[in-house]
Amino acid sequence: MAALFGKIQIGIYVEIKRSDGRIHQAMVTSLNEDNECVTVEWIENGDTKGKEIDLESVFALNPDVAPEEEIPQSPETPPPPVSSAIKINKIPQNKVFCFQCQSFLCVSAARRKSNCVKEVEKLQEKREKRRLQQQELREKRAQELDATTPNYEIMCMIRDFRASLDYRPLTTADLIEDHRICVCVRTRPLNKKELTMKDLDVITIPSKDVVMVHEPKQKVDLTRYLENQTFRFDYAFDDTSTNEMVYRFTARPLVETIFERGMATCFAYGQTGSGKTHTMGGDFSGKNQDCSKGIYALAARDVFLMLKKPNYKKLDLQVYATFFEIYSGKVFDLLNRKAKLRVLEDGKQQVQVVGLQERDVKCTEDVLKLIEMGNSCRTSGQTSANAHSSRSHAVFQIILRRRGKMHGKFSLIDLAGNERGADTSSADRQTRLEGAEINKSLLALKECIRALGRNKPHTPFRASKLTQVLRDSFIGENSRTCMIATISPGMASCENTLNTLRYANRVKELSIDPIAVMEGRSAGHSVSQLDVLEAQWGVGSSPQRDDLKLLCEQNEEEVSPQLFNFHEVVSQLVEMEEQVLEDHRAVFQESIRWLEDEKVLLEMTEEVDYDVESYATQLEQILDQKIDVLTELRDKVKSFRSALQEEEQASKQINPKRPRAL
Ligand code: ADP
Ligand code: MG
Repeated sequence: MAALFGKIQIGIYVEIKRSDGRIHQAMVTSLNEDNECVTVEWIENGDTKGKEIDLESVFALNPDVAPEEEIPQSPETPPPPVSSAIKINKIPQNKVFCFQCQSFLCVSAARRKSNCVKEVEKLQEKREKRRLQQQELREKRAQELDATTPNYEIMCMIRDFRASLDYRPLTTADLIEDHRICVCVRTRPLNKKELTMKDLDVITIPSKDVVMVHEPKQKVDLTRYLENQTFRFDYAFDDTSTNEMVYRFTARPLVETIFERGMATCFAYGQTGSGKTHTMGGDFSGKNQDCSKGIYALAARDVFLMLKKPNYKKLDLQVYATFFEIYSGKVFDLLNRKAKLRVLEDGKQQVQVVGLQERDVKCTEDVLKLIEMGNSCRTSGQTSANAHSSRSHAVFQIILRRRGKMHGKFSLIDLAGNERGADTSSADRQTRLEGAEINKSLLALKECIRALGRNKPHTPFRASKLTQVLRDSFIGENSRTCMIATISPGMASCENTLNTLRYANRVKELSIDPIAVMEGRSAGHSVSQLDVLEAQWGVGSSPQRDDLKLLCEQNEEEVSPQLFNFHEVVSQLVEMEEQVLEDHRAVFQESIRWLEDEKVLLEMTEEVDYDVESYATQLEQILDQKIDVLTELRDKVKSFRSALQEEEQASKQINPKRPRAL
């Protein structure tokens, strides 16, 4: 054992390096030959703490205990003077067996090789083998770590950092905790494109709930260093985790909720390409699409299993599924050829998606068929699946009904990609409006979940279509939610990844009451031209607008007054568009009636003795009516057009473009 462990013995003190960079002393409490590591313990804040450290790390920090290059230990060699070679602070009396072993070697030199000697020889052999293996590994690594790789230096820093870590990833043996709001993170492996570009994996998940981002930074003198940012969540899934594993800790605990008359939601949030659809929908990488491994299907499978349990069987529940998409604040039914649907709210604040198809499902296969159908409908006519899905939210719902009445609902949402920003200043209006809607809905979602977590009476659900449609899931005692933040591991995605992690962190963090904060502040937003239009449109203090205001005030760091103004303008624009369309349709219908009336009137004049007086009066009435209705519509269209212009102006103010150099 001496060969492998050098001068390390149980009971000696060695320097250790903690993951936060601190170096302090700890006592060796056991030696583990198989894993080539030692266990150390130390006292911190009155508690005994411990960890396993591999031998290489111990020797790196404590060269004085490292083994000598050649091992001269023949049984004749006297034991080294312990106190001079080893840093010993304290050796407990009961832990000195190694010394006893060595003195035994001294006195028995003349005898046949004892077991102890054989043991030493075996270890020497093993050590030699290991040395060769390590040399091979080093050579292999040196080949792989081609120094021409961009960021070679950073790569080495990350590798060294990881080597010093003590990995304890999540396993199926870990406890599934009961959370009302569960927030977790999943990273994926580097993909082909990233590998071809020699991108580096900058994510480390050392334990079941910690994510580290190694952000490369540069000092003023141009030396590069790593800034390691650490985040803690309910669970962290590394790039080897399967969908089953992610499901087990996230959505699966929510299946029971809907059987207990509750509402459950599970969101996948992250930048495009980070793995949201892979997690929720399944594996779509190859030609053969397999949606049976996605969380939609896994949840459906468990719903049907749960349905068979005696407790729930007697409830006589029926299972239904819906699948729809929210794109630019509009709802489209993916189970009905993308029919555009209207969202209405009644006097009791009940939100309804009018005409949404609820399909009867009897088994997992039925659900899989619907998912396939919805997915093909979602991407049909699109040049790239990701280009479209990055701009729309997909909502898959499993609904339990008892004699037609809602019993519970599980909404599983593959959110639009969160990477936005430049969109609001895009030259293309459609891009700007989509970007604004996504930005707003993701902010609203965060606030709604936060409000749920704190049992707030007011949830700003009206600030976006997404939150409005999911409103019933954010209220009520028995609502539970889970957010899976998916991240891309590459260095090129570092900024987006950090944004995703910060957002996910804020979903659950506990901080000061936002309402109190809001009351203490003045918003300071510029007076918009829309204030003038409010009177005309009668939407001045709409609940939508109030919620939007609340939302922006709660997120003042992210939402500048200009951006708030832009959001307001866009919201008004969307409302106006709906009204113009609605009015236009009504006028169109009315015109058909006018035509019929006029036809009757003209036919009347064919008579020899028709009543001229009556004819003139009726024609005047029709014309007055026409003029009134058409003038009203024309004015609305005019102000709609000026709102379109205002939107363009507002978008320019968010990111004022630099004047071009002459
Ligand atoms: P998003 O929906 O967030 O835009 P996707 O789910 O489409 O991202 O994933 C992008 C690509 O990465 C796809 O080719 C997908 O198959 C792959 N991918 C995502 N997550 C994983 C994972 N955990 N393991 C292996 N491949 C993955
Ligand atoms: Mg996707």
